[in-house]
Amino acid sequence: MRSPVSDYLAEVLEGCAGDTSGANADYIPELARADSDRFAVAVATLTGYVHGAGDTDVMFTMQSISKPFVHALALQDRGLPAFLDKIDVEPSGEAFNELSLEEGTTRPRNPMINAGAITTSTLVGEPDSTLAHRWERILGGLSAFAGRELEVDEAVFSSELETAHRNLAIAHMLRGYDTITEDPEAVVANYTRQCSLRVTTRDLALMAATLANGGVQPLTGERVVDPPVVREVLSVMTTCGMYDAAGDWVTRVGIPAKSGVAGGIIGALPGQVGLAVFSPRLDEHGASVRGVRVCERLSQEMGMHLMEAP
Ligand code: GLN
Repeated sequence: MRSPVSDYLAEVLEGCAGDTSGANADYIPELARADSDRFAVAVATLTGYVHGAGDTDVMFTMQSISKPFVHALALQDRGLPAFLDKIDVEPSGEAFNELSLEEGTTRPRNPMINAGAITTSTLVGEPDSTLAHRWERILGGLSAFAGRELEVDEAVFSSELETAHRNLAIAHMLRGYDTITEDPEAVVANYTRQCSLRVTTRDLALMAATLANGGVQPLTGERVVDPPVVREVLSVMTTCGMYDAAGDWVTRVGIPAKSGVAGGIIGALPGQVGLAVFSPRLDEHGASVRGVRVCERLSQEMGMHLMEAP
């Protein structure tokens, strides 16, 4: 639907469309084949109204954007102390797929890098839950954030799993330290499945708006997670969501955010809006080049930087 806001968003897309630098993720063959020219932005209000421009209904996979939502489910299910026992909340300053643990411990540095996210995926549901139960919890929980039943993109899932050598190496390292206690291959399969959930830019804006709204989905009215969980997740998104570009992002954009290698980025402005952008060509940190540009413009022009005095 057209509105002054969607007209403005269309103008922002037009202004950023010319930047065709960067490249699709190529370590997952199916993502390398995606249409690089897709471009979308959506902003969801806390009443569930979505303003958008561009390809807002095109499906793509969440990839790492699934991480903050699974983080939220794990905190909701197990509580903060049990979570922190396994995973720290310090920015790593490293690439998302680094094989690393916090110095002198067996904890991944944060739940946004792959080592932390793979561990986080084992911390949803009851402590004695099976991998199958945990997948049901992840699927149900992320669908509740979106306000509709999400589905796995099977082509991306198998493409990523076939080439998941690095994540398998990380999972074997985690198993070696007893940070995870199950079969590393099965754990990576669950994690890869969560990354392969299909969403639109519109879905992502509503998922981000659920975080901005303190854990209540704006359209369904369902309380998905509690406010202290959201505070924790948004804090970690702020410090770690953009990996080794987090400092640059916080100073330039100033919105808690998370990128994914399919080209999506979400931002959640507490008490205000959820936003999402999509454009598959990535920069060296694995974030959408045009997506970052759009967020920079929105932040500046709409005064969205969190550190900005009102
Ligand atoms: N599934 C991807 C991986 O594990 C997610 C990475 C990302 O989006 N940054 O490599």
